[in-house]
Amino acid sequence: MSSADTTTEAFADTRPSSAEDLPDYAPVPRAALGPALNEQGYYVGRVERNLYWVTDGTYQSAFLTTSDGVVLLDAPPTIGHNIQRAVDEIASANGVSNKVTHLIYSHHHADHAGASSLFDGSVARIGHEETRKLLLRDDDPARPAPEETFQDRLTLEIGGERIELAWHGSNHSPDNIYIHLPDHDTLMLVDIVNPGWAPVYISNLTEDVPGYIEAAGTALTYPWKHYIGGHLGRLGTRDDVTLHQQYMADISASVKTALDTLDPTPYFQKYGVNVWAGVKGYLDAVTDAAAAPVIEKYTGVLAAADVFTPSTAFWVMESIRLDFGYASYVHP
Ligand SMILES: [Zn+2]
Repeated sequence: MSSADTTTEAFADTRPSSAEDLPDYAPVPRAALGPALNEQGYYVGRVERNLYWVTDGTYQSAFLTTSDGVVLLDAPPTIGHNIQRAVDEIASANGVSNKVTHLIYSHHHADHAGASSLFDGSVARIGHEETRKLLLRDDDPARPAPEETFQDRLTLEIGGERIELAWHGSNHSPDNIYIHLPDHDTLMLVDIVNPGWAPVYISNLTEDVPGYIEAAGTALTYPWKHYIGGHLGRLGTRDDVTLHQQYMADISASVKTALDTLDPTPYFQKYGVNVWAGVKGYLDAVTDAAAAPVIEKYTGVLAAADVFTPSTAFWVMESIRLDFGYASYVHP
């Protein structure tokens, strides 16, 4: 296999002594990259009208300046204090308030919410009821639970600006929501599509693969022009979402072909009573066989397709086996 194995043991056993010993990967396509960061390590730009986005190149946050104050959408800790710096920069340029009065959580994960305690106790915290439940469970002082929650839908009118929140079932996490700004032609949906890039480990560390795959289609049922995905250095377009759908569909199809064609017998013959070794040998082989044609097709199209497609193919394979019962045979 030409692809690098980034799964567990093989990766943990790698003890490179220097950078030269590390594996090489395909170059990142220019189109995957976003604008340059400033000296403080962030970029802030206008999405549309009074909606802005902030990135550190890996994570994204967004905010809306309104006559009632600033509405912040997620607070990733890697951007941290640069969130307020970005707000200050825009607020002073436009002569509007820089006070963050509302904070909307896309979901409970610390990598998108871990700087939310930087905003003081008077901020109104809004999120899905499951986000509240999970944050109360996690009991992390960096992520105070939202007090204003909803179940399926919540339309907010803040300073005359409309924000429509919706929950369409579990996907990446059980509580991940759609943040639609209809008057800004924008959808924020975090940890589903990484514009220009392949998903990170196991389809963006997804808990519910069928829900994750469906989410991109649900995103396209909304009217919008700008997509805020929460990751990497640029905004997305509808074409990015369509490309992601095709990538995931190609992985699913390739996994089915590999499950249909790979014979497990030699792995179980070789390892005998060590059935876990047989399982690992067989499923790793299915993963590699499924990933290979997808890596070939998407190298140069999606950044890091060669880095993370095997991990996502493994996770999609497990969903196809366990959620859909594919290649699951009842003993005669
Ligand atoms: Zn997440």
